[in-house]
Amino acid sequence: MDAEIISVGTEIVLGQIVNTNAPFLARQLATLGITADRQLAIPDRQTLMVDSIQAAWQRSPLVFVCGGLGPTADDVTLAAVAKVLGTSLTLDQNHWQWIQETFAQRHKQMMPENIQQAKFLSGGQPLPNAVGLALGSWYERDGHRLVVLPGPPREFVPMLTEEVMPRLTKLVGQRVQITSRTLNFFGRPESQLMDEIAAVTADLAGVTITSYVQPDAIQVRMTVRNQPQAVADRLLDAAQKTIINEEAPFFFGIGDDCQLAKVVVGQLRERGWRVTAAESLTGGMFQSTICSVPGASNVFDGGLVTYAARAKEQLLGIDPRIIAKHGVVSAQTAAQMAEKSRNKLGVQVGLGFTGVAGPDDLEGQPAGTVWVGLAITGQPTTTRLLHLGAYRGRQAVRRQSVQAGLQMLYRALQK
Ligand code: ATP
Ligand code: MG
Repeated sequence: MDAEIISVGTEIVLGQIVNTNAPFLARQLATLGITADRQLAIPDRQTLMVDSIQAAWQRSPLVFVCGGLGPTADDVTLAAVAKVLGTSLTLDQNHWQWIQETFAQRHKQMMPENIQQAKFLSGGQPLPNAVGLALGSWYERDGHRLVVLPGPPREFVPMLTEEVMPRLTKLVGQRVQITSRTLNFFGRPESQLMDEIAAVTADLAGVTITSYVQPDAIQVRMTVRNQPQAVADRLLDAAQKTIINEEAPFFFGIGDDCQLAKVVVGQLRERGWRVTAAESLTGGMFQSTICSVPGASNVFDGGLVTYAARAKEQLLGIDPRIIAKHGVVSAQTAAQMAEKSRNKLGVQVGLGFTGVAGPDDLEGQPAGTVWVGLAITGQPTTTRLLHLGAYRGRQAVRRQSVQAGLQMLYRALQK
């Protein structure tokens, strides 16, 4: 079944409040296999409301009208809906009694308009509101249904889950059972990754595959609907194996909350290795990222922030002639930072971060130019040149540098 959601509120249309009700409702509907494929936000203006509700009511089996059930003059939702349906409003005596008692108990002055909030659509059913004043309405005619709910989320959410969802569940039968699993990748453009995955999973029936670009990963979500858990798990296992097999060099972990830093810390720990860094443009961000992982003390003792050339020379002991000859933003300096930090701390792995965070150029190199060095005991030191999108800003350049360092380390740990 398809549904339409009409969110009413001038503040929503003006962007003064964020409409959280419609996405919440859409997610709830999805669990029943109902797609809210039309979602509209309109101001509290009666003619516009009548037009919009009329169109939705005529074409859709299920229409939600959310918001604008208050007692004030701008709350005209119920009147607009009644006009479209050609019906009147009925006073719920019990609820009206309850509103009056509530005001008396709180020693608050009631407005004559409060009686509006005890009304529902004639011919329909009132939807009780346990935390606010306004009743909702459930109305059915000729196979079409229209639901009216108040706007404040603290009223909207419980009324939806406690009153509306049980009615809809009865209507559609069973709730959809959704089982999903997320795989995380880096180092491959999303479109290319998804094309390749689509090619190898074409004959895997029953699994839907979607992708989301996160700041530090591309997440690929595999979803199975309406299968018993054991069957769903088997389908997901098969899809996972096929996908990872195809994209092994770019895969780094499973789960919605999988983070590369966490994976790297886990792998260092397995090997009994410790890591350090000398950081220039990242100013300690790499080390901070490592420290954000619980259990980081198993792989991290400390490290250095060497921002100016003088600090690189004094704290790390980098030969000033190397910096003079190659520049501070160079493969040689990054390699020296990685090696010297590793040696100073006496650990297996050292990284060096040097580059131009921006917005200004440095040594004739544009913002976003970054060298990362990786020194692992017993292996040749490697360096990587990054050209990061400086237009995204200084913090993004620094964050992406950290991520690139983690990626280099992750790749090295796979060998
Ligand atoms: P009230 O009696 O509070 O006026 P109402 O049913 O008329 O109730 P609205 O006027 O639509 O509700 O909204 C009241 C407040 O609830 C808004 O100012 C806003 O803070 C919040 N609200 C309304 N709709 C939404 C929404 N879709 N998403 C998030 N918050 C909302
Ligand atoms: Mg209102």
